Amino acid sequence: MRFPMSLYASMTGYLLKKNIRGEASYPLVLMLEPTHRCNLTCSGCGRIREYHDTLHREMSLQECLHAVDEAATPVVTVTGGEPLLYSHIQELVEGLLARGKHIYFCTNGLLMEENLHRFRPSSRFTWNVHFDGTETVHDQIICKQGGFRRALAGVRAAKAAGFRVSTNTTVYRETDVADVERLFEQLTQAGVDGILVAPGFSYGEVTQDVFLTRQEIMEKFRTIRSWDRRFPLISNPIYLDFLTGTRSLQCTPWGNPTRNTEGWKSPCYLITDTHYSTFSELMKRTDWDYYASGKDPRCSQCMVHCGYEPTVVRQMTGKDLLRMIKWNLHV
Ligand code: SF4
Repeated sequence: MRFPMSLYASMTGYLLKKNIRGEASYPLVLMLEPTHRCNLTCSGCGRIREYHDTLHREMSLQECLHAVDEAATPVVTVTGGEPLLYSHIQELVEGLLARGKHIYFCTNGLLMEENLHRFRPSSRFTWNVHFDGTETVHDQIICKQGGFRRALAGVRAAKAAGFRVSTNTTVYRETDVADVERLFEQLTQAGVDGILVAPGFSYGEVTQDVFLTRQEIMEKFRTIRSWDRRFPLISNPIYLDFLTGTRSLQCTPWGNPTRNTEGWKSPCYLITDTHYSTFSELMKRTDWDYYASGKDPRCSQCMVHCGYEPTVVRQMTGKDLLRMIKWNLHV
């Protein structure tokens, strides 16, 4: 099973509740960035550039939990920065589990092995470890020799300790899909529960020409999606239709709201026009129709999963649902 049944049950219950109440615009996954502090300076990272002046800051535990309650999503992605550097990370994870949330804990894996003892395995807690290629390629992208080995050791130790572990791979213009295939073979052998793969997206703050155009994304992802039966890919099949050009989707920018040290990031995870101090302000004051229309020039090449996967959920037909269930069960 690619995702735990408890996650499906929580998400279905949440969607039913929203539909019964007649709500049209609601979030699905909260992207929580308690700090942007990081132990790496990756070449494709927009956060360490955009938040350069505030990297030292962190949200209080109370602010984090309040944000979780404001958005009230069934799933919380804890990210950053490197969340293992956040001072109250253990209490934050415990607080989320106590609220019945499903947690995707995004980490570069460097500090994972030595921090495992601070957390407990749960079907609601998934480590999500970043790997952008096999050893040489990954170490080059993260600008740190030995990074790949440490992260893979973290993955193996977490699996041995009974944790759920998935991985996340970003595909850039220079990415060689044959290298990604070798990486996925290694990760599958290491016993990971899921492999997420998504195109890199252009932050205004990242000036290097490392990001793909939509045409380039489609070419690379046609190969990647053909591996669906070989590897436990968790990029959902309808989103992959979009990435390979066989389905068109409109962005749902409010689907995965981002809260960080500066407030609620508007309009989306990727681009920042402003930050609001409350979730309600974010929802009321952002011109969602404009961003969903794709008319903003910064949206022209964007196919980012946190913008488009919520659309998949919103527009799901009975046929799509059946397909998703079969896909989750590897049928
Ligand atoms: S298309 Fe991409 S950049 Fe534009 S609002 Fe949606 S997620 Fe943000």
